[in-house]
Amino acid sequence: MKQKRRYLALLAAMALALTACGGAEEPVAEEPTEEPAAEAPAEEIIVGVSWNNFQEERWGLWDEPAMKAAIESAGGTYISADAASSAEQQLADVENLIAQGAQALIILAQDGTAILPAVESALSQGIPVVAYDRLIENPDVLYITFDNVEVGRMQARAVLEAAPEGNYVFIKGNAADANSDFLRGGQAEVLADAVASGAIVEAAESYTDNWDPAVAQRNMEQFLTQLNNDVDAVVASNDGTAGGVIAALEAVGLAGKVPVSGQDGDGAALNRVALGTQTVSVWKDARELGAAAGAAAVRLAQGEAPSDVSGGATFDTPGGNTIATILLAPIPITRANLDIVVDAGWITLEALCQGVEPGAVELSA
Ligand code: BGC
Repeated sequence: MKQKRRYLALLAAMALALTACGGAEEPVAEEPTEEPAAEAPAEEIIVGVSWNNFQEERWGLWDEPAMKAAIESAGGTYISADAASSAEQQLADVENLIAQGAQALIILAQDGTAILPAVESALSQGIPVVAYDRLIENPDVLYITFDNVEVGRMQARAVLEAAPEGNYVFIKGNAADANSDFLRGGQAEVLADAVASGAIVEAAESYTDNWDPAVAQRNMEQFLTQLNNDVDAVVASNDGTAGGVIAALEAVGLAGKVPVSGQDGDGAALNRVALGTQTVSVWKDARELGAAAGAAAVRLAQGEAPSDVSGGATFDTPGGNTIATILLAPIPITRANLDIVVDAGWITLEALCQGVEPGAVELSA
């Protein structure tokens, strides 16, 4: 780690970094090591992964490659299905993965309740299940995620710091995703005193069907109309919905004036943080999550108990279950610490700094 600080005008920074990084245009993430299929061991372990969709950048760009690499480096085989946002399709996908020989499942649930019969069926056939990123209320799954309540706290803290008073709008996630309420819970905790004192007013709030940015934009447009544009802050629950919110703010000349939160470290969102239209993106290194789940699934398939894989860590769910869990830590990224995601090989300076005025952002490394 270099202690020396460098102060870079952004355009200059781009040029310098390209030189300094040896022209590395791509994120220099830990490259997954691909194992040739021919070398798969005799007792092949098949891990079936059920994705609900690939709508957000993270799933295809970071989670999936890291997960696949971890499965393969543990001697397993990765098979997968994409439910394209259909809870019904995801039930069929899980059955299908089992029919293809999956010995462990990793499920990113579209709908945490609708998926339950498929999870119960898998478990009853002795096939262990990882609830990936999103909670599935079954005591026998291994739940691997980031601390979502803490993500919500981080979002609210950054917005509250920028807007200590006024009308707050909450753009929540998909109602069928337990994360949406975990996030809202963390946000509420941080804002409780300011709400109680009357410093901030919870002026409007809605879930966002399927975390769809276009839906978030429409909801935000309606709230702006209802409130005569008298909005002082928007707590948006991920970067996709933040993008929709900022488009709505842009249309009424409020982008960059009203603080907005997000999460995921989407490239476009980090660029907005550099541009000043988004206040914070809570970064979750999805490479770590994918790798943890891939390795865990192989161990579960080999007969280890979820509680052994989690090292005894548990999570008490809203439904009253105590579930073995691996909980990773999120990091809030604001204009003040964008160097973290650059240093992590998550985004290039070129992508981060696109359209940003020279001198507007200070990077240290
Ligand atoms: C994840 C977020 C993601 C959202 C939409 C949530 O469950 O935790 O990282 O942005 O789903 O995919």
